Amino acid sequence: MSTAAEPFRREHQNVENADVIVIGGGPAGLAAALELKARGVARVMILDREPALGGAIRHCLHSPFGMREFGRVYFGPAYAQRLQRQAQDAGVDIRTGHSVVELGQDGTLLVTSALGVKTLKARRIVLATGAREKPRSVRLLPGDRPVGVITTGTLQSYVAFHGIMPFRRPLVIGSELVSFSALLTCLTHSARPVAMIEPEPYPLARSPFRWFPRLVGVPFHCGAAVTDIRGRGRVEEADIRLADGRILTVQCDGILLTGRFTPEAALLNASPMDVAAGSAGPLTDQDGRMANPLFFAGGNVLRAVETGGWAFREGRRVGAAVADDLAREPCNAPALPVTFTDPLKLVVPAILRPGGLERPAFRDFQLRFTRRVQGRLSLHLGGTEVWSKTGLWLPERRVLVPIPRAAFAASQVVFYFRETN
Ligand SMILES: Cc1cc2nc3c(=O)[nH]c(=O)nc-3n(C[C@H](O)[C@H](O)[C@H](O)COP(=O)(O)OP(=O)(O)OC[C@H]3O[C@@H](n4cnc5c(N)ncnc54)[C@H](O)[C@@H]3O)c2cc1C
Repeated sequence: MSTAAEPFRREHQNVENADVIVIGGGPAGLAAALELKARGVARVMILDREPALGGAIRHCLHSPFGMREFGRVYFGPAYAQRLQRQAQDAGVDIRTGHSVVELGQDGTLLVTSALGVKTLKARRIVLATGAREKPRSVRLLPGDRPVGVITTGTLQSYVAFHGIMPFRRPLVIGSELVSFSALLTCLTHSARPVAMIEPEPYPLARSPFRWFPRLVGVPFHCGAAVTDIRGRGRVEEADIRLADGRILTVQCDGILLTGRFTPEAALLNASPMDVAAGSAGPLTDQDGRMANPLFFAGGNVLRAVETGGWAFREGRRVGAAVADDLAREPCNAPALPVTFTDPLKLVVPAILRPGGLERPAFRDFQLRFTRRVQGRLSLHLGGTEVWSKTGLWLPERRVLVPIPRAAFAASQVVFYFRETN
């Protein structure tokens, strides 16, 4: 079969070996590598395509990061540097500027770098490739296609790594936590957004963040959508349909697309690996183990998106699970799917394995809803309800449900939802 990695392929030249290779040097991957070293695993390697470790937080020029891990508050770049130093001191084999372009079923990785193409192999692989915001192409935004329509990640990278602010009067789309971080990046780098809009009828972030636009004098419209983008060369103006149906035209020189994160799963799509329905990340069990038991995953690649601290703690637990797993044969026990229906968007872990580790990496199911909904969420094992909770559930908010031990031996594991008014 021909794959996207075909142009890079060489026939088995110089395979280099490690005990564990971590793909992605963000907080999750770094925490996994540090935990593996702390547990005495000898050859731990981190591969990252960027020139430095730290992942997405390298371009978050604000605090707070690192409070739980280091007992003090860091700005993103300083937190990233501290993590990288720790990995160096722990003896992790760090390879930056290395892009993994293919995962092999036997634990081999095809890797490209300035040194050329290489095949690396490990007894276990940890995927920690993070998440990214959805670009314009998948948001179905109408209108011209001028320069100046970018995501928060791209904006923050321009600002942090190149000192470039690509616009002065952008229109901001979205109201997740990252959207307010985008607004802050604009305001602290001499750009003043003309407006902020959210397609849902309510802001997605919790207060007090949702009050921030009004505090800084940026008009904020919920239930509003872009109906046209116009510009020759670069963005010049946009039409917004407001909640009451009126069309508002704003003069702007850019469109800032924020949030709507999706796992960075390009590697899974290019390889014979299972992607989970709902999360669009890897299909993993209670230990973070994928369908192929040589592969594990942790951090935002699982279910975009969580905070840096959450990704770090999750990476550490997956690192501990991998260290335990190295002491035994890879777990090939048949996996039991965890099923759910709308309005649930995803469940992680999405499979359970009876033969897993004594201390699983995940003690809770993590769930997300697709929309704001009132009703009763329940968990059923083999047809019997074992857990339930009634309330108002919001999209993009973390919901945790403890994984009962009995779930590993159940014939069926199902989440149900009954909507109430
Ligand atoms: C724009 C933006 C703003 C954010 N702001 C905040 C914030 O203010 N506070 C907060 O707590 N969180 C924020 N986040 C969330 C952030 O993603 C997490 O905090 C944290 O960085 C997730 O860690 P991670 O290790 O799972 O993934 P990441 O930090 O995304 O790291 C993944 C790493 O994998 C590497 N990689 C991916 N594919 C490959 C490949 N094929 N080969 C080699 N390397 C690869 C990437 O280069 C990257 O370094 C933000 C995220 C984004 C995108």
